Amino acid sequence: MTDAPEIPVRVRAEVAALPPYKQGKQAGAEAFKLSSNENPFDPLPGVLARMQSASALNRYPDAAANRLRARLAERFGVDVDGVHIGAGSVSILAQLVQATSGPGDEVIYAWRSFEAYPWLAVVAGSTAVQVPLTPDARHDLDAMAAAITERTRAVIVCTPNNPTGPVITQAEFDAFVERVPSDVLVVLDEAYAEFVTAPDAVDGARVLAGGAHPNVVVLRTFSKAFGLAGLRVGYAIGHPRVLDAARSTAIPLSVTAHAEEAALASLDAEAELIERVRTIAERRDRLAAALREAGWRVPEAQGNFVWLPSGAETIEVATAFDAAGLIVRPFAGDGIRISVGEEESVEKVLRIAASVVKDLP
Ligand code: PMP
Repeated sequence: MTDAPEIPVRVRAEVAALPPYKQGKQAGAEAFKLSSNENPFDPLPGVLARMQSASALNRYPDAAANRLRARLAERFGVDVDGVHIGAGSVSILAQLVQATSGPGDEVIYAWRSFEAYPWLAVVAGSTAVQVPLTPDARHDLDAMAAAITERTRAVIVCTPNNPTGPVITQAEFDAFVERVPSDVLVVLDEAYAEFVTAPDAVDGARVLAGGAHPNVVVLRTFSKAFGLAGLRVGYAIGHPRVLDAARSTAIPLSVTAHAEEAALASLDAEAELIERVRTIAERRDRLAAALREAGWRVPEAQGNFVWLPSGAETIEVATAFDAAGLIVRPFAGDGIRISVGEEESVEKVLRIAASVVKDLP
């Protein structure tokens, strides 16, 4: 029994049953916050200055964020209509799910993956179909293709997979997409694309370049590699008519002028920002290797995070990190995701992880 107070108005049953969104813990002054896959670097002064120069706060922003669209269109070699900007890539994902999948429809994704997927499917009124990851924490694309039915309207694939880390290879994705009916949306969620170093990883830009799969939409974000999580700006590349449908479900004017300007400034400063991404990726590789050395079965880590498969001991292990001032993201009964943060946090993570691994069964 819960003692939550009754909702005073009639709410859709599936929404009333949803647990409230739980954000990763905020860190105190002494702690490292490694729970939300954020970028540990402060924003570049030039990006901050450009953000502050954005249009006056008493004016609405450009609803379509056209300057940023044009810039990204040029960069990806697509038409402006093939780019859509959102207040974070998660808001675009919500639009795509709303546009394609209502009551009686199915949305397929791997599990465990990004926690928003089941939530977005349920809020749209559709049925979430979860396909278990393989034992090495990768997408099981054969099983995902086999799960497609006449009711399937969308399939979401996440590469690198949050929270476990492995990528889907180009060959795996190419074979998979051939098995998806051409009127079923495939979302390639590449929130962590810039951190990928595996040479055989799928690249959404390359998938779209051929033009052979108008049902594929690629999602990317300025939250991770570009360090703008607090400003909320992400984008989709795909077929203009598919993006139009997403746009029809969007809350108008949710991308601020400040977010658009900071994203443009970040693209101008890309070389410097990608240098930081390289630093984080190197730190990640060092951390994953040392954790494996210590006895953890860390799967391939291609995002800005590593996965500790702590199973039934997850809450105890997370408590040990917490006590040491390391805020991590535990998934009870399954594992712990640790973001690659400040250099000084790496030694600390290793020390705690090595000390608790000995107690695991
Ligand atoms: N996709 C994945 C896989 C993510 O992990 C996240 C953020 N945690 C997002 C999308 C959303 O990112 P944002 O809305 O900040 O662009």
